[in-house]
Amino acid sequence: MAKVYFTDLRTTPTRSLFSKIETLLERAQIAKKVQKNDLVAIKLHFGEHGNAAYLRPVFLRVVVDKVKSLGGKPFLTDSNTLYVGSRSNAVSHLKTAIENGFDYSCVGCPVVIAGGLRGQTGTKVPIQGEVLKEVHIAQEIVEADALIAVSHFKGHELSGFGGALKNLGMGCATRTGKMEQHSSVAPMVNSKLCKGCGLCVPYCPGNAIYAGKKIAEIDGAKCVGCGECVVVCPSKAIEIQWNEEQQKFQQKIVEYAAGSLKGKEKKSLFLNFLMQIDPCCDCYPNNDAPIVRDIGILGSADPVAIDTASNDLVMAEEGLPNTALKRGLGKGEDKWRSLHPSIDWNIQLDHGERLKMGERAYTLVKV
Ligand code: SF4
Ligand code: SF4
Repeated sequence: MAKVYFTDLRTTPTRSLFSKIETLLERAQIAKKVQKNDLVAIKLHFGEHGNAAYLRPVFLRVVVDKVKSLGGKPFLTDSNTLYVGSRSNAVSHLKTAIENGFDYSCVGCPVVIAGGLRGQTGTKVPIQGEVLKEVHIAQEIVEADALIAVSHFKGHELSGFGGALKNLGMGCATRTGKMEQHSSVAPMVNSKLCKGCGLCVPYCPGNAIYAGKKIAEIDGAKCVGCGECVVVCPSKAIEIQWNEEQQKFQQKIVEYAAGSLKGKEKKSLFLNFLMQIDPCCDCYPNNDAPIVRDIGILGSADPVAIDTASNDLVMAEEGLPNTALKRGLGKGEDKWRSLHPSIDWNIQLDHGERLKMGERAYTLVKV
């Protein structure tokens, strides 16, 4: 059974959150993962402009310092986005990262945007997936000797929740890889709800939305399926139709995660931060109120187990009032289904286990 290490957020003057993060890294056996002179990719999300839910740079500093103490050469990394925003090319992505506090003076290592200037530099990595036999992974991820995925655990409009698997799968893919994963998603405008405000138009990376008439229209041939319009629409007028079985979208994410870890399975570990758990991805230019209280931080060498444990901890919480949850959900009730009713979030966990990336069965060890 996989081990997942957990710490709550209680601290004392002699035991800060920083020392707790260090303990998690040690218990997850970072010393076995990072050797002298290894180039170590620390994969995170730098946060979109306007979004304040991304992880604090000082937390990353702890990971960076630990890697350095083992003789490794860390760099913080993420790949460019598919959608229009402040991170769609390496120049604006790097600028956003610095503006959000991820610069050398704070984190203590370089920031390297993965996948080149426009997100098209990568390698086709062969995998034994059920849906895909090769995946397009950003070059800097492929070339790194070790990988530490540091994930902000939260809800996600297309996969139910986003944790380590999502951080790796979508976040390490080139633009081609992201399009391949999103090809299952097709949005449709509900004419009864659309007010023709046009707010969705500038967010669309494919220039696929026309709002010149009374309601918006989407050109399916131009749509890349990023899902951005679904979240930015204030009237909830855009709904996802799945081009193929819904489960293929999540399966592809997991298969991309497997591709990003290929060759580094024994040189990777995962930290999930269960803090400021908002309903949707950090990719949006805002973050809504947290749906449950801040819970803690988890560390593991198993990406399936850490996401399973994170999920269980969220489900065990009371839903907070005045949030996007439809009503105050009680302990044990499904928060992700309440937010994203059509999404079966179990798919990603089951698929990760089927691909032997890890186990859903875990032991939670409090540190
Ligand atoms: S943002 Fe929503 S309501 Fe406004 S045009 Fe787009 S789909 Fe219609
Ligand atoms: S129509 Fe919506 S899902 Fe399609 S590319 Fe535009 S923003 Fe993305």
